Amino acid sequence: MAENKKKLIEVKNLSKYFKVDKGTLKAVDNLTFDIYQNETFGLVGESGCGKSTLGRTLMGVYTPTSGSFRYTGRESLEVNKKNLFRYSKLAQMIFQDPYASLDPRMTVGSIIEEGMIIHNMYDKQKRQERVYELLEVVGLNKEHANRFPHEFSGGQRQRIGIARALAIEPEFIVCDEPISALDVSIQSQVINLLSDLQKKLNLTYLFIAHDLNIVKYISDRIAVMYLGNIVELASSDELYQNTLHPYSTALLSAVPIPDPDKEAQKSRQIIEGEIPSPINPPPGCNFAPRCPKACDICHKQKPALKEVKPGHFVACHLVK
Ligand code: SF4
Repeated sequence: MAENKKKLIEVKNLSKYFKVDKGTLKAVDNLTFDIYQNETFGLVGESGCGKSTLGRTLMGVYTPTSGSFRYTGRESLEVNKKNLFRYSKLAQMIFQDPYASLDPRMTVGSIIEEGMIIHNMYDKQKRQERVYELLEVVGLNKEHANRFPHEFSGGQRQRIGIARALAIEPEFIVCDEPISALDVSIQSQVINLLSDLQKKLNLTYLFIAHDLNIVKYISDRIAVMYLGNIVELASSDELYQNTLHPYSTALLSAVPIPDPDKEAQKSRQIIEGEIPSPINPPPGCNFAPRCPKACDICHKQKPALKEVKPGHFVACHLVK
Protein backbone atom coordinates (compact mmCIF):
# COMPACT_ATOMS: atom_id res chain seq x y z
CA MET A 1 0.00 0.00 0.00
CA ALA A 2 2.64 2.42 1.16
CA GLU A 3 4.85 2.18 -1.96
CA ASN A 4 2.18 3.77 -4.17
CA LYS A 5 1.32 6.53 -1.78
CA LYS A 6 2.61 10.05 -2.08
CA LYS A 7 4.88 11.19 0.72
CA LEU A 8 3.95 14.24 2.74
CA ILE A 9 6.77 14.28 5.31
CA GLU A 10 10.20 12.79 4.58
CA VAL A 11 12.34 12.41 7.69
CA LYS A 12 16.08 11.79 7.23
CA ASN A 13 18.52 10.92 10.02
CA LEU A 14 16.64 13.24 12.35
CA SER A 15 18.01 13.71 15.88
CA LYS A 16 17.00 15.99 18.71
CA TYR A 17 19.35 16.11 21.68
CA PHE A 18 19.13 18.30 24.78
CA LYS A 19 22.10 19.43 26.88
CA VAL A 20 21.38 18.62 30.53
CA ASP A 21 23.48 18.77 33.70
CA LYS A 22 24.57 15.15 33.45
CA GLY A 23 25.38 15.14 29.74
CA THR A 24 23.35 14.91 26.53
CA LEU A 25 19.79 13.60 26.49
CA LYS A 26 19.16 11.82 23.19
CA ALA A 27 15.39 12.27 22.96
CA VAL A 28 15.20 11.46 19.24
CA ASP A 29 18.12 9.59 17.75
CA ASN A 30 18.79 9.35 14.03
CA LEU A 31 15.30 8.54 12.68
CA THR A 32 14.51 8.01 9.01
CA PHE A 33 10.93 7.38 7.87
CA ASP A 34 8.15 8.86 5.73
CA ILE A 35 4.58 9.90 6.46
CA TYR A 36 2.20 9.47 3.50
CA GLN A 37 -0.54 11.84 2.40
CA ASN A 38 -3.93 11.25 4.00
CA GLU A 39 -2.70 8.57 6.35
CA THR A 40 -2.78 8.45 10.12
CA PHE A 41 0.71 7.59 11.29
CA GLY A 42 0.50 6.31 14.86
CA LEU A 43 3.43 6.73 17.24
CA VAL A 44 3.50 4.65 20.41
CA GLY A 45 5.88 3.89 23.25
CA GLU A 46 6.32 4.31 26.99
CA SER A 47 6.58 7.79 28.56
CA GLY A 48 9.96 9.30 27.88
CA CYS A 49 10.56 7.33 24.67
CA GLY A 50 10.78 10.56 22.64
CA LYS A 51 7.44 10.48 20.83
CA SER A 52 6.33 13.96 21.92
CA THR A 53 9.78 15.41 21.17
CA LEU A 54 9.56 13.89 17.69
CA GLY A 55 6.08 15.41 17.22
CA ARG A 56 7.28 18.83 18.33
CA THR A 57 10.37 18.64 16.13
CA LEU A 58 8.16 17.83 13.12
CA MET A 59 6.06 20.88 14.01
CA GLY A 60 9.15 23.10 14.03
CA VAL A 61 8.85 23.78 17.79
CA TYR A 62 12.32 22.23 18.29
CA THR A 63 15.20 22.71 15.88
CA PRO A 64 16.75 19.34 14.95
CA THR A 65 20.22 18.74 16.39
CA SER A 66 21.10 16.97 13.15
CA GLY A 67 19.34 15.50 10.15
CA SER A 68 16.36 17.08 8.45
CA PHE A 69 12.77 16.70 7.34
CA ARG A 70 11.06 17.72 4.17
CA TYR A 71 7.45 18.66 3.54
CA THR A 72 6.10 17.72 0.10
CA GLY A 73 2.43 18.69 0.04
CA ARG A 74 0.92 21.88 -1.41
CA GLU A 75 4.44 23.23 -1.27
CA SER A 76 7.73 21.42 -1.24
CA LEU A 77 10.21 22.64 1.35
CA GLU A 78 12.98 21.43 3.58
CA VAL A 79 11.76 22.75 6.92
CA ASN A 80 14.26 25.05 8.60
CA LYS A 81 14.33 28.28 10.60
CA LYS A 82 13.99 30.43 7.46
CA ASN A 83 10.72 28.90 6.25
CA LEU A 84 9.17 28.04 9.60
CA PHE A 85 6.47 30.68 9.20
CA ARG A 86 5.47 29.27 5.80
CA TYR A 87 5.46 25.79 7.26
CA SER A 88 3.27 26.91 10.17
CA LYS A 89 0.46 27.46 7.65
CA LEU A 90 0.75 23.88 6.43
CA ALA A 91 1.19 22.03 9.72
CA GLN A 92 -0.70 22.44 12.99
CA MET A 93 -0.89 20.72 16.35
CA ILE A 94 -3.65 19.48 18.64
CA PHE A 95 -2.43 19.37 22.22
CA GLN A 96 -2.84 16.83 24.98
CA ASP A 97 -4.26 19.15 27.61
CA PRO A 98 -7.38 20.98 26.45
CA TYR A 99 -7.38 22.93 29.73
CA ALA A 100 -3.88 24.41 29.44
CA SER A 101 -3.74 24.84 25.67
CA LEU A 102 -6.44 27.53 25.36
CA ASP A 103 -5.78 31.08 26.61
CA PRO A 104 -8.36 31.63 29.37
CA ARG A 105 -8.50 35.40 28.67
CA MET A 106 -9.49 35.03 25.03
CA THR A 107 -12.95 34.27 23.69
CA VAL A 108 -13.35 31.09 21.69
CA GLY A 109 -13.89 33.16 18.54
CA SER A 110 -10.60 35.04 19.06
CA ILE A 111 -8.74 31.80 19.75
CA ILE A 112 -9.94 30.30 16.47
CA GLU A 113 -9.42 33.53 14.53
CA GLU A 114 -5.87 34.16 15.78
CA GLY A 115 -4.09 31.93 13.26
CA MET A 116 -5.99 33.49 10.36
CA ILE A 117 -4.92 36.98 11.53
CA ILE A 118 -1.28 35.90 11.90
CA HIS A 119 -1.31 34.47 8.38
CA ASN A 120 -3.19 37.45 6.96
CA MET A 121 -6.09 35.33 5.76
CA TYR A 122 -9.39 36.92 4.72
CA ASP A 123 -11.00 40.20 5.83
CA LYS A 124 -12.66 40.54 9.24
CA GLN A 125 -16.13 39.65 7.96
CA LYS A 126 -14.93 36.49 6.21
CA ARG A 127 -12.86 35.46 9.25
CA GLN A 128 -15.94 35.72 11.44
CA GLU A 129 -17.93 33.56 9.01
CA ARG A 130 -15.08 31.06 9.04
CA VAL A 131 -15.05 30.96 12.87
CA TYR A 132 -18.80 30.14 12.85
CA GLU A 133 -18.30 27.55 10.13
CA LEU A 134 -15.45 25.88 12.05
CA LEU A 135 -17.47 25.76 15.25
CA GLU A 136 -20.21 23.93 13.32
CA VAL A 137 -17.63 21.59 11.74
CA VAL A 138 -16.41 20.46 15.17
CA GLY A 139 -19.91 20.00 16.57
CA LEU A 140 -20.30 23.31 18.44
CA ASN A 141 -22.29 26.33 17.29
CA LYS A 142 -21.82 30.02 16.57
CA GLU A 143 -23.22 31.11 19.95
CA HIS A 144 -20.10 29.58 21.50
CA ALA A 145 -17.81 32.11 19.79
CA ASN A 146 -18.30 34.80 22.47
CA ARG A 147 -17.74 32.52 25.43
CA PHE A 148 -14.50 31.80 27.32
CA PRO A 149 -12.72 28.41 27.58
CA HIS A 150 -13.62 27.89 31.26
CA GLU A 151 -17.30 27.69 30.28
CA PHE A 152 -16.70 24.42 28.39
CA SER A 153 -16.16 20.77 29.29
CA GLY A 154 -12.87 18.98 28.46
CA GLY A 155 -14.36 17.39 25.33
CA GLN A 156 -15.75 20.73 24.10
CA ARG A 157 -12.39 22.41 24.73
CA GLN A 158 -10.67 19.77 22.65
CA ARG A 159 -13.18 20.50 19.87
CA ILE A 160 -12.19 24.19 20.13
CA GLY A 161 -8.52 23.13 19.90
CA ILE A 162 -9.35 21.16 16.75
CA ALA A 163 -11.23 24.15 15.23
CA ARG A 164 -8.20 26.34 15.98
CA ALA A 165 -5.88 23.85 14.26
CA LEU A 166 -8.17 23.69 11.19
CA ALA A 167 -8.59 27.47 10.87
CA ILE A 168 -5.58 28.02 8.63
CA GLU A 169 -6.39 25.00 6.44
CA PRO A 170 -3.34 22.85 7.22
CA GLU A 171 -2.59 19.55 5.48
CA PHE A 172 -0.63 17.96 8.32
CA ILE A 173 -1.71 17.81 11.98
CA VAL A 174 0.33 16.46 14.88
CA CYS A 175 -2.15 15.08 17.43
CA ASP A 176 -0.16 14.85 20.67
CA GLU A 177 -2.15 12.47 22.89
CA PRO A 178 -5.31 14.45 22.06
CA ILE A 179 -7.69 12.31 24.09
CA SER A 180 -5.64 11.15 27.06
CA ALA A 181 -6.87 14.01 29.30
CA LEU A 182 -10.53 13.38 28.40
CA ASP A 183 -13.16 11.21 30.06
CA VAL A 184 -13.42 7.76 28.47
CA SER A 185 -17.04 8.53 27.57
CA ILE A 186 -16.04 11.37 25.25
CA GLN A 187 -12.75 9.99 23.90
CA SER A 188 -14.54 8.11 21.11
CA GLN A 189 -16.49 11.24 20.09
CA VAL A 190 -13.24 13.15 19.57
CA ILE A 191 -11.63 10.20 17.72
CA ASN A 192 -14.66 9.92 15.42
CA LEU A 193 -14.56 13.66 14.80
CA LEU A 194 -10.86 13.46 13.85
CA SER A 195 -11.59 10.53 11.50
CA ASP A 196 -14.48 12.36 9.82
CA LEU A 197 -12.44 15.53 9.38
CA GLN A 198 -9.56 13.56 7.89
CA LYS A 199 -11.82 12.15 5.17
CA LYS A 200 -13.59 15.45 4.53
CA LEU A 201 -10.48 17.66 4.45
CA ASN A 202 -7.82 15.20 3.20
CA LEU A 203 -5.77 15.62 6.35
CA THR A 204 -2.66 13.71 7.35
CA TYR A 205 -2.17 12.95 11.05
CA LEU A 206 0.80 12.05 13.18
CA PHE A 207 -1.13 10.53 16.08
CA ILE A 208 0.88 10.19 19.30
CA ALA A 209 -0.60 8.02 22.03
CA HIS A 210 0.16 5.48 24.68
CA ASP A 211 -3.25 3.76 24.45
CA LEU A 212 -2.54 0.97 21.97
CA ASN A 213 -6.21 0.17 21.38
CA ILE A 214 -6.89 3.72 20.23
CA VAL A 215 -3.77 3.78 18.06
CA LYS A 216 -4.76 0.52 16.40
CA TYR A 217 -8.27 1.83 15.75
CA ILE A 218 -7.25 5.12 14.17
CA SER A 219 -3.87 4.44 12.49
CA ASP A 220 -3.01 3.22 9.00
CA ARG A 221 0.60 2.60 10.02
CA ILE A 222 2.22 2.50 13.43
CA ALA A 223 5.78 3.17 14.60
CA VAL A 224 6.87 1.80 17.97
CA MET A 225 9.47 3.99 19.72
CA TYR A 226 11.90 2.97 22.42
CA LEU A 227 14.50 5.29 23.93
CA GLY A 228 14.60 7.74 21.02
CA ASN A 229 14.57 5.08 18.28
CA ILE A 230 11.90 3.52 16.07
CA VAL A 231 12.19 -0.21 16.73
CA GLU A 232 9.30 -1.39 14.53
CA LEU A 233 7.16 0.21 11.83
CA ALA A 234 4.37 -1.50 9.88
CA SER A 235 0.76 -1.18 8.83
CA SER A 236 -1.61 -1.34 11.77
CA ASP A 237 -2.94 -4.83 10.89
CA GLU A 238 0.51 -6.22 10.17
CA LEU A 239 1.95 -4.89 13.43
CA TYR A 240 -0.80 -6.43 15.54
CA GLN A 241 -0.93 -9.75 13.65
CA ASN A 242 2.75 -10.26 13.01
CA THR A 243 4.65 -8.46 15.75
CA LEU A 244 8.38 -9.04 15.32
CA HIS A 245 10.33 -6.87 17.76
CA PRO A 246 10.55 -8.20 21.35
CA TYR A 247 9.68 -4.77 22.77
CA SER A 248 6.58 -4.38 20.55
CA THR A 249 5.55 -7.94 21.48
CA ALA A 250 5.69 -7.09 25.18
CA LEU A 251 3.93 -3.75 24.67
CA LEU A 252 1.10 -5.30 22.63
CA SER A 253 0.70 -8.23 25.01
CA ALA A 254 -0.45 -5.70 27.63
CA VAL A 255 -3.39 -4.56 25.47
CA PRO A 256 -6.64 -5.99 26.87
CA ILE A 257 -8.73 -8.13 24.47
CA PRO A 258 -12.46 -7.32 24.63
CA ASP A 259 -13.35 -11.06 24.62
CA PRO A 260 -13.06 -12.27 28.29
CA ASP A 261 -12.24 -15.91 27.27
CA LYS A 262 -9.44 -14.85 24.94
CA GLU A 263 -8.21 -12.32 27.51
CA ALA A 264 -8.01 -15.07 30.17
CA GLN A 265 -5.97 -17.33 27.85
CA LYS A 266 -3.61 -14.61 26.67
CA SER A 267 0.00 -14.79 27.83
CA ARG A 268 1.18 -11.41 29.00
CA GLN A 269 4.86 -10.55 28.74
CA ILE A 270 6.17 -8.31 31.44
CA ILE A 271 9.14 -6.14 30.52
CA GLU A 272 11.63 -6.50 33.36
CA GLY A 273 13.65 -3.55 34.64
CA GLU A 274 13.41 0.19 34.25
CA ILE A 275 13.68 2.04 30.97
CA PRO A 276 17.39 3.12 30.80
CA SER A 277 18.29 6.79 30.86
CA PRO A 278 18.40 8.45 27.43
CA ILE A 279 21.37 10.42 28.80
CA ASN A 280 23.49 7.27 29.00
CA PRO A 281 21.81 4.78 26.69
CA PRO A 282 23.23 1.25 26.87
CA PRO A 283 25.77 0.22 24.21
CA GLY A 284 24.48 -1.91 21.33
CA CYS A 285 20.72 -2.39 21.20
CA ASN A 286 19.00 0.05 23.58
CA PHE A 287 16.54 -2.65 24.60
CA ALA A 288 19.23 -5.27 25.42
CA PRO A 289 19.22 -4.77 29.24
CA ARG A 290 15.49 -5.64 29.33
CA CYS A 291 15.19 -8.01 26.38
CA PRO A 292 14.53 -11.70 27.14
CA LYS A 293 16.15 -12.66 23.82
CA ALA A 294 19.32 -10.57 24.10
CA CYS A 295 22.51 -12.33 22.98
CA ASP A 296 26.16 -11.31 22.68
CA ILE A 297 25.93 -9.11 19.61
CA CYS A 298 22.97 -7.21 21.11
CA HIS A 299 25.22 -5.69 23.78
CA LYS A 300 27.84 -4.61 21.24
CA GLN A 301 26.16 -3.53 18.03
CA LYS A 302 23.12 -1.35 17.52
CA PRO A 303 20.64 -2.98 15.09
CA ALA A 304 19.57 -0.85 12.11
CA LEU A 305 15.90 -0.42 11.20
CA LYS A 306 15.57 -2.80 8.20
CA GLU A 307 12.65 -3.63 5.89
CA VAL A 308 12.12 -7.34 6.59
CA LYS A 309 9.06 -7.63 4.35
CA PRO A 310 7.35 -5.02 2.20
CA GLY A 311 6.37 -2.12 4.44
CA HIS A 312 7.42 -3.86 7.67
CA PHE A 313 10.58 -2.43 9.29
CA VAL A 314 12.27 -3.86 12.38
CA ALA A 315 15.43 -3.01 14.33
CA CYS A 316 16.52 -6.31 15.86
CA HIS A 317 19.52 -8.59 15.21
CA LEU A 318 17.33 -11.69 15.48
CA VAL A 319 14.77 -10.65 12.85
CA LYS A 320 16.08 -11.36 9.35
FE1 SF4 B 1 16.50 -8.02 21.89
FE2 SF4 B 1 18.83 -8.23 20.65
FE3 SF4 B 1 16.67 -7.80 19.25
FE4 SF4 B 1 17.65 -5.89 20.81
S1 SF4 B 1 18.63 -6.77 19.01
S2 SF4 B 1 15.53 -6.45 20.62
S3 SF4 B 1 18.39 -7.07 22.51
S4 SF4 B 1 17.12 -9.62 20.44
